Amino acid sequence: MTDINRREFLKIAGASTVIGLLGGWKAVELLAPGELEAKYLPKPEALTAKRWAMVVDVKRMDEAIAEKCIEVCHYIHNVPDIGDPKREIKWIWLERFEHAFPGQLQEHMAERLNGKPFIVLCNHCDNPPCVRVCPTKATWKRDDGIIMMDQHRCIGCRFCMAACPFGSRSFNWGDPRPFIKKRYPEYPTREKGVVEKCNFCAERLAKGLLPGCVEVSDGALVFGDLTASDSEVRKALRRHFAIKRKPYLGTNPQVYYIV
Ligand code: SF4
Ligand code: SF4
Repeated sequence: MTDINRREFLKIAGASTVIGLLGGWKAVELLAPGELEAKYLPKPEALTAKRWAMVVDVKRMDEAIAEKCIEVCHYIHNVPDIGDPKREIKWIWLERFEHAFPGQLQEHMAERLNGKPFIVLCNHCDNPPCVRVCPTKATWKRDDGIIMMDQHRCIGCRFCMAACPFGSRSFNWGDPRPFIKKRYPEYPTREKGVVEKCNFCAERLAKGLLPGCVEVSDGALVFGDLTASDSEVRKALRRHFAIKRKPYLGTNPQVYYIV
């Protein structure tokens, strides 16, 4: 089934469920003309792009800013703090340069970058191996490039985790809810046996808001449409030399690092 067909199918399926539940023609009479269609249109306040991308300005990033980014992301997404590195759940975290960029180290770069915190997250790859291997289509690529995850369709096989060469996905080995320090009511919690990861704050973009990490980064993280020449990401990439993680693997990450 193509994407368009799938969308059409969901619309029809959704409409017939409503009609079925409310009882035939009476339900149709309850819906104002165009109301059902309107539910599927992007909200006017939503931020939209042809291709979302992020730029990390390593020169402006320090450990305190990075900690703020991690804290806000994990808070607004109810990411649990398990306290056991083997079972940890992470959407955004810190890596040393040599781990984040293996094989990309040059001697003159090493000295300058030594000790710098590199903030890493899902790269929302253009050619995402995680999407290809998922047997239930629980993870997919949106038209704007965001790699989404639907925990209700995830069967916990962890194929996507094995396929991701960046360690961007985490698995809930147990019920994460007891490990959420403070529940954020606007985002769903997950359950045992499902995979999760950064979603480029798709739920915030839909409300017209930038990703949480970007908002608290004091300009060290830039987010925008890679296809728009006047976007902040394009401006940053025009002005500075930037690298991507493991480009030789061909996944084409859409998180750029100004070094
Ligand atoms: S970083 Fe990993 S999880 Fe994210 S899109 Fe790329 S392969 Fe998939
Ligand atoms: S874009 Fe959103 S989900 Fe992704 S790391 Fe930043 S705050 Fe977390």
